[in-house]
Amino acid sequence: MKLYSTKNPATRVSFKEAVFNSMPQDKGLYMPVNIPRLEDNFLNHLDEYTLPEIAFHVAQKLIGDDIPADDLKEIIADAISFLAPAVKLEENVFVLELWHGPSLAFKDFGARFMSRVMSYFLEKGEKQLDVLVATSGDTGGAVALGFLGVPNTRVTILYPKGKVSDIQELQLTTNGQNIRAVEVDGTFDDCQALVKQAFTDKELNEKFRLTSANSINISRLIPQTFYYFNAYAQLLKRDINKVVFSVPSGNFGNIGAGLLAWKMGLPVSHFIAATNVNDTVPEFLKTGVYQPKPSVATLSNAMDVGDPSNWVRIADLFKEDAEALKTQVTGYSYTDEQTLEAIKFIFDNYNYVACPHTAIAWQALRDWQQDNYKRDTAGIFLSTAHPCKFPDVFPESIGGKVDVPEQVAGLSKKQKHATALGKDFAGFKDYLLKND
Ligand SMILES: *Cc1c(COP(=O)(O)O)cnc(C)c1O
Repeated sequence: MKLYSTKNPATRVSFKEAVFNSMPQDKGLYMPVNIPRLEDNFLNHLDEYTLPEIAFHVAQKLIGDDIPADDLKEIIADAISFLAPAVKLEENVFVLELWHGPSLAFKDFGARFMSRVMSYFLEKGEKQLDVLVATSGDTGGAVALGFLGVPNTRVTILYPKGKVSDIQELQLTTNGQNIRAVEVDGTFDDCQALVKQAFTDKELNEKFRLTSANSINISRLIPQTFYYFNAYAQLLKRDINKVVFSVPSGNFGNIGAGLLAWKMGLPVSHFIAATNVNDTVPEFLKTGVYQPKPSVATLSNAMDVGDPSNWVRIADLFKEDAEALKTQVTGYSYTDEQTLEAIKFIFDNYNYVACPHTAIAWQALRDWQQDNYKRDTAGIFLSTAHPCKFPDVFPESIGGKVDVPEQVAGLSKKQKHATALGKDFAGFKDYLLKND
């Protein structure tokens, strides 16, 4: 697999280089030089394969011989070890549950695959890999659990004090082993600024082999294509072969992977980009003007992004052809009030509890189907997290109905370990140097 930078299409790097660099020096994003098309024979018979089989086939097509087949198969068996069921709510409405992994969010797909690929590429005798990650909640849990126990790696998670839910905090702070948590007296942006500054600090880079684990890493994007193919496979089993996907979007890595799957030949009729009031992309799709703005805090906080970091990948996939992009993607955005109404509607009508991100995707699908309904086309909205991660969002009547999955059942008995720090870089740097 060869990749180029969106800012400099003539560059060529290997998959390994792209995985460890995360972002090219020129601050573009890595994209595959060649987007392979999957064989019709495979696509037409997707329903005959399991999720790991689909994942292996898709990954091998993309990655080529950078990872030999047997090794890749092992990485996938280990990383993609849970299901992603498409559950029918009503005629032509399905919810794709992407939260059956260890951290109860779809980010498990990306984080688990990335951690294993990084560990695979680390050569014997190489310096320990130090992963720094800032989180507003879900990323940290997925990365922590993804790297937990992975040899020759260590993860440092920075999270904003008092701004993640209790379950999220427990997922970040109770791991031990090669995972450590830093509770920053500041906002998510402060956490991100500390991580960014660490990457440019000479002394830290001499002492440690630092790498980031954020959603722009190509090894997080690739595994997110798997569940789009697998969702289609599940509908083929019900004799449905026309689908639209509605994707709750923040940094646009999830929907970006869906569009990559489509470019690889997955016959998706349409994509819906569903956001909260951080509506930079829906506005762009309406007006043609891409105007990043400061993020606004909402109930669906994993999507509080004013300048989505993966957007350049999507623009690049369409070669900047805004018309082609608009034909394939429609945007919708919703307020917190509308999000709560959607949660209530879904609960009252389907006896199903959706997390706030999921509810936004459902509402967008409903609004799209209102204008574009076709009897032969199923809508699939992506459920990106289990509702138990956002307990404060639900009214008592609904919150009481949220089940507690085994992944979190024992967490509250565990001891929290986090180092409290301020938001100044000197303090963070000192912490890293003194705790090596
Ligand atoms: C990260 C996240 C999103 C947004 O996904 P992007 O790939 O950043 O668009 C949506 N929902 C949940 C629950 C998340 O954790």
